[in-house]
Amino acid sequence: MRKKIVAGNWKMNLNLQEGVALANELKDALAAEKPNCDVIICTPFIHLATVAGITEGTVIGLGAENCADKEKGAYTGEVSAAQVKSTGAQYVILGHSERRAYYGETAEILKEKVNLALANGLKVIFCIGEVLEEREANKQNEVVGAQLADSLFDLTEEQLSNVILAYEPVWAIGTGKTATAEQAQDMHAFIRGCIAGNFGEKAAEEISILYGGSCKPSNAKEIFSKPDVDGGLIGGAALKCADFKGIIDAWN
Ligand code: PEP
Repeated sequence: MRKKIVAGNWKMNLNLQEGVALANELKDALAAEKPNCDVIICTPFIHLATVAGITEGTVIGLGAENCADKEKGAYTGEVSAAQVKSTGAQYVILGHSERRAYYGETAEILKEKVNLALANGLKVIFCIGEVLEEREANKQNEVVGAQLADSLFDLTEEQLSNVILAYEPVWAIGTGKTATAEQAQDMHAFIRGCIAGNFGEKAAEEISILYGGSCKPSNAKEIFSKPDVDGGLIGGAALKCADFKGIIDAWN
């Protein structure tokens, strides 16, 4: 049985004190009511070590939102996969559309990052998704298929077992415009088919594929009810404990 997951992406929000308060609130809420899925929060680098002290021994997994494409050394301002791991984090988001669009992260760069993250014992939440013009031109499968192939298809099956996929149509991120549950299901089934084609049926059956893009408590249940949707990657709604918990509860 593949894992059901709700993961939060805090992005560049919350100062350290606000992040600590949110992590504590979530810890208390999930201690009071055990979730029916895996829960992960991905925070800015500066929060990681402190939040790791809060999430340790709880059901909450912790991840970074990025890591460097270099192992170590003179790369001022970068944070390596090994450094992320040393904070106590277990996950890292890679390939988010904001990183691709605003920081020029190419498939080649992402391939390096994925390899370094996995080599350092992190699990990767790898984001893929088309922009609006690509959807309107009905090119979403071509685009997403290429994103998968160009950054992930050289992995071994063993490495892939430490990868979670997140389908995030760029036109749905932070826009309030959610993909319909059918659009999500169609794409997730396509993605699973791509994984089956390259890694085999077993790997495809076992990989978790999350949906991301304006997911909220009011629409999560319908989206998560689709057979190939294994949960969500949540941006804005991960910043309020009640909203995030409302999405987690969609699995109840
Ligand atoms: C995201 O950026 O990963 C995301 C899903 O954002 P939002 O939920 O705010 O659309």
